[in-house]
Amino acid sequence: MEKKLREEIKEKKRIVVKIGSSSLQHKETGELDYTRMEVLVRELCNMRNQGKDVILVTSGAIAVGKKAIGLSRLESEAGHLGVKQACAAVGQARLMMIYQKIFAEYNQVAAQILMTKDTIINDFNRYNARNTFSELLSMGVIPIVNENDTVATYEIGIGDNDTLSAIVAALIEADLLILLSDIDGLYTDDPRTNPDARFIEEVEELTEEYCRMGKESTGSDVGTGGMNTKINAARIATNSGADMIIANSKDIRILHRIMDGRRLGTLFKKHRQEEFDLVSFVEHLHE
Ligand code: GLU
Repeated sequence: MEKKLREEIKEKKRIVVKIGSSSLQHKETGELDYTRMEVLVRELCNMRNQGKDVILVTSGAIAVGKKAIGLSRLESEAGHLGVKQACAAVGQARLMMIYQKIFAEYNQVAAQILMTKDTIINDFNRYNARNTFSELLSMGVIPIVNENDTVATYEIGIGDNDTLSAIVAALIEADLLILLSDIDGLYTDDPRTNPDARFIEEVEELTEEYCRMGKESTGSDVGTGGMNTKINAARIATNSGADMIIANSKDIRILHRIMDGRRLGTLFKKHRQEEFDLVSFVEHLHE
């Protein structure tokens, strides 16, 4: 059964890959890790060359903006919403500039799509966003997605890119979502504090037990998402018909290894629920 699940990964056609801020930055300095970005882009272009639809959800706008403006950690942390939004405005453009440059090396066209909660809740916006994705994908373009942090306040913000990537996967009916993070996947407990914590390779069904593990094991300190937001993402993705894999971004070449059917990361098996309503889910996101 497990083998079959991984074999099926090879056949996936529409893949959303999410990378978090912690995976894009050098831990020591907070500066962008260009080598990693290059490997990421090469892997994505290669997936595209295999005829797959590829979508990248990337964080990093705020982090890159902070660096560009030269805000100290203290200044940016005390920072109110306006500071973050300004950082995002600077950082998002820089981030895209770097992505575009690397994608161009492979002659791959990339596009930018920025979203908020409203993109999903508002019927007109949702319809347009879905159309744009579908046009871009049929043209062979790789959409690069982030939250529109410059305008997103708490009320209209999705808040973290784990959730955003799952929402994107649901919106465009992707069949696979891969979350690249600084952890291997789901453990029964926090492996940093409990040596007996066991790694979980496959999650057949997202039971309460797994949700509890999500709360107890931890994620990174850089991005917004911990394991908890990843479990929430798994709920959205699997309910809407996509498998989801959490994988370690230490070596980004893990992407093609996963696509080759190797048993890496934690795989959450899809369970399409007809009654799952993306719009109402997003509407009640922070309640
Ligand atoms: N949208 C945020 C950014 O690009 C990151 C959110 C997250 O890390 O989940 O800076």
